[in-house]
Amino acid sequence: MTTTTIPALLSDVAGGHRLTGEEAALLLKATGRDVWTITTAADEMREYRAGNTVTYVRNQNVHVTNICKNLCGFCGFGRKKTDEGAYCHDKDGIQEQARLA
Ligand code: SF4
Repeated sequence: MTTTTIPALLSDVAGGHRLTGEEAALLLKATGRDVWTITTAADEMREYRAGNTVTYVRNQNVHVTNICKNLCGFCGFGRKKTDEGAYCHDKDGIQEQARLA
């Protein structure tokens, strides 16, 4: 990795340079005031590219069931078949979910 400063790197990015993996890692390791330097540069790029127009995508997933055999530790969605709140929609239930969407 070549030695570079965060301001120099951000200046290069503003000029069109695409970050390498090593450069991205450098930014991710930033602490203290360097974090504000990076967020300021990111906000300037956002303003340059998109102005103040905010867009979003509105969607909805139709869940046929929340019964899951994996029960990953981080998940707040999956339920055992016998858990309170477990469901498995039939065709009418799925159509109702789609109608609501
Ligand atoms: S994330 Fe939740 S729903 Fe998905 S497999 Fe894990 S426990 Fe099941």
